[in-house]
Amino acid sequence: MRKIAVLSGKGGTGKTTVATNLAYSLHKIGKKVQLLDADAEEPNSHIFFEIEYTQEESVDILIPKIDRNVCTHCGACAKACEFSAISVSPKHIMVFEYLCHGCGVCSMVCPVNAISEGPKPIGKVKLGKTKDGISFGEGILNIGEPSAVRIIRQMKKHMDENADVVVIDSPPGTSCPVVETLQDMDFALLVTEPTPFGLHDLQLSVNTIKDLNIPMGVIINRYDGVYTEVEKYLESENIPIMMKIPYDVEIAQSYSNGRLFSKDKDEYVEKFIDLYEKVEANVKC
Ligand code: SF4
Ligand code: SF4
Repeated sequence: MRKIAVLSGKGGTGKTTVATNLAYSLHKIGKKVQLLDADAEEPNSHIFFEIEYTQEESVDILIPKIDRNVCTHCGACAKACEFSAISVSPKHIMVFEYLCHGCGVCSMVCPVNAISEGPKPIGKVKLGKTKDGISFGEGILNIGEPSAVRIIRQMKKHMDENADVVVIDSPPGTSCPVVETLQDMDFALLVTEPTPFGLHDLQLSVNTIKDLNIPMGVIINRYDGVYTEVEKYLESENIPIMMKIPYDVEIAQSYSNGRLFSKDKDEYVEKFIDLYEKVEANVKC
């Protein structure tokens, strides 16, 4: 099984376009593909397919429940909480559930065992198949929840060991959910655009991926040949450019109509297969 994460330094760069078209193109040539959408705050890979969902799981975290008859208001839990999710005063103690990441540290440090833990749903994982027959999964984080890490971790447990290729549409940026997505991946496909902002975010993503020691390559989306600093940077870093997707009104129209442009423009199936072959050539053995 080959595991490819598609990511970008910021949203709106085209990573979902790449992930969905890559998955579709590989399926079209007979590969057994699974597409997982880990962008749990705003999953939108499903827009490009008709999906029949067959399974849905709640994702829960354990949050602290305080026994106020036992609590001595010592403040140890509030001091230990990295996320400022507990406030303690001489007479009161409050848990701000929307800030709690369910790490369990507070219950470990409480000297009088006044903290037990109870489940709280933070989102869900949905699984199914596209009408074309691509295995599909997505994580969905409830609005207001602070972190999608648990959702992504649970979704990745459903990676299909029998798939030839698993394509994961990562969250944007470089925060913990992205790092969680990248764990155990064989290759990171970074999508960027040829602008100064694109370059800045690309550099941040490259540093994150380097830290994780995952082979990577870059796709320049909306390429117009004008701003060449991205290419110069990649050359200086010895990072391969795997594909350039031109600025093209028809591609933009396909996207805004919720269609895969490789379905509308046949030549792109070949281009995405070529991209996959480059990934294979760059994966560490
Ligand atoms: S479980 Fe972790 S994040 Fe939540 S209140 Fe306790 S220490 Fe803070
Ligand atoms: S650590 Fe335990 S005793 Fe101290 S304030 Fe928190 S809940 Fe109360």
